[in-house]
Amino acid sequence: MERKVVIAGNWKMNKDAAAGRELVESLKPLVAGFTDADVVVCPPFTTLSAVVAAAAGSNIKVGAQNVHWAESGAFTGEISAEMLVSSGVEYVIIGHSERRQYFGETDATVNSRLKAALKAGLKPIVCVGETLAEREGNKTNEVIGRQLRDGLAGLTAADMANVIIAYEPVWAIGTGKTATPAIAEETHKFIRETVGALFGAATASALRIQYGGSMKPENARELVAQADIDGGLIGGAALKADSFAKLISEALGR
Ligand code: PEP
Repeated sequence: MERKVVIAGNWKMNKDAAAGRELVESLKPLVAGFTDADVVVCPPFTTLSAVVAAAAGSNIKVGAQNVHWAESGAFTGEISAEMLVSSGVEYVIIGHSERRQYFGETDATVNSRLKAALKAGLKPIVCVGETLAEREGNKTNEVIGRQLRDGLAGLTAADMANVIIAYEPVWAIGTGKTATPAIAEETHKFIRETVGALFGAATASALRIQYGGSMKPENARELVAQADIDGGLIGGAALKADSFAKLISEALGR
């Protein structure tokens, strides 16, 4: 099954509107030829509009880093899926490990956000991954199996056609410690098998699974060459146009 490579940059809490616009303006010519990949940037909420405007007419798509599950109402500080769509946003990261670690995100809240995102027509990037203690305790598959079962509960195979899973081992995020291609592939294969058991073989075979965790230009080629790795969710290396573009070029095997 041919799956289109998808590379998303998670800017986290970096780049105001001016810096975001500047990064996208620099990125546009560098990635214009990468029509065989989906290229996504995910700035902070307050930078989204500037980046949507800067990316207009290019092959760069825009994503948010979180979404609330309600359509509107008394949820101070939150942003709804409809608000994102009306701002020109197409993708949204859900359940990033930093949100699970610092902001009380659970598989149940991931599931609520995911359903709201799909209902509004967003393309969700759902993050799963184990901590170092869980990996060392041989609990990786148990943890990821639970995150998938509970996080994706109630979805249909049709919903899953719009979902991307990002496998991000927590111990590899922002640490410079990348999972080896073999270790990453083993877990990606497990994710695909689990999604197959939940939604059927056709859904599993079409599912795009990104790797995330210290992916950079130097290791992107070998990671994305693995059978079940279909792209990357990138933190640090997405903050500069040249490294992000180089990483995409490596991931595409150029
Ligand atoms: C991330 O936060 O999604 C991430 C993968 O970060 P980094 O690439 O910096 O490890």
